[in-house]
Amino acid sequence: MFTKFKMAWSTLMLSSMAVLPQALAEVRHEIQFPDIPGYQTIVADFHTHTVFSDGKVWPTVRMDEAWREGIDAIAITDHIEYLPHKKYMIEDHNASYQVALPTAQQKNIMLIKGTEITRETPPGHFNAVFIKDVNPIKTPEFMDAVKAAVDQGGFVFWNHPTWKGREKGDWKDIHETLYQEKLLGGIEVLNGGTYYPDAHKWCMDKGLTMLGNSDIHSPSLRHKSEPGEHRALTLVFVKEFTQDGIKEALHEQRTAAWGQNKIIGHKEHLGPLFDASIVVSPPHHKAGKSLWVEIKNNSHLTYNLKRTGDKGPLAITLDADSKVLVRIEAGIGKNDLRLKYKVENAFVGPEEALAVTLTIPR
Ligand SMILES: [Zn+2]
Ligand SMILES: [Zn+2]
Repeated sequence: MFTKFKMAWSTLMLSSMAVLPQALAEVRHEIQFPDIPGYQTIVADFHTHTVFSDGKVWPTVRMDEAWREGIDAIAITDHIEYLPHKKYMIEDHNASYQVALPTAQQKNIMLIKGTEITRETPPGHFNAVFIKDVNPIKTPEFMDAVKAAVDQGGFVFWNHPTWKGREKGDWKDIHETLYQEKLLGGIEVLNGGTYYPDAHKWCMDKGLTMLGNSDIHSPSLRHKSEPGEHRALTLVFVKEFTQDGIKEALHEQRTAAWGQNKIIGHKEHLGPLFDASIVVSPPHHKAGKSLWVEIKNNSHLTYNLKRTGDKGPLAITLDADSKVLVRIEAGIGKNDLRLKYKVENAFVGPEEALAVTLTIPR
């Protein structure tokens, strides 16, 4: 009797254990951005911290958050030089990556090995990602640290350039040297809630890669990424979704920074991204000179359109993940209607909005 009870109890324990992980499974809400011709669009955060520097979470938590928030690839970039919790840990700068990796693998998050090389501004803070071993990057000389990262195949970018003010964060000789020696690959144009127009201009002028990253230190309290409420992220247009595929895209400047309801990138990517996001239905009703059409936006970005041509409403807001109804006073012709707009929150230069055409099928 006792044995039987015991068996039943252990069976119950086993079955509830088997059910438990599923019952506790976090739901992932994908971030919606369509692929563009020739490339898959993936979403990455190349700048995060954990308790292994001045962050406030254990590395596995960053993987849980990435899963929930629909992020495809993430780098933990703990400072090498600033370790407020040093007293409680061994000094191995690969630790945050090693602790996070099993969770990343379970959650299908691509974990990229990285670190933040942290110096007074100038030169400032620099992230090295796709490195192999963080420890040799801890060197007394700044240039040696950057060279060590690049020698490992790392991609180095300048973080939050003007965070100590415009004068300190200006493009100085040290940045010119990094650039001339092909050690600098990109700059953050977005870091957390801040947009850096100077960085945007330098990227455009010098052919450097634009990045948008969270630089998150605290736990993320988000359960999902919503169009108007998400961390700053980088869209990467990859030929293949592998570590090498992402690195290749970074070297070829196939990125866009997304945050604060704006997107910053190159015309040749943002144009196709807009076209892939938007579906214009043929007019479902016509009366006199008026046409009624539905326009669907299959992306997580609300596009704010302002008319640049001579037809169509003066402004159209294409809400993220939504369909809008538009009345067009244009007469009914024989050909498709081509309406010219600019997207006021898609920046292809610090002052330049993306030009688009809305084609209304006949
Ligand atoms: Zn920093
Ligand atoms: Zn940082």
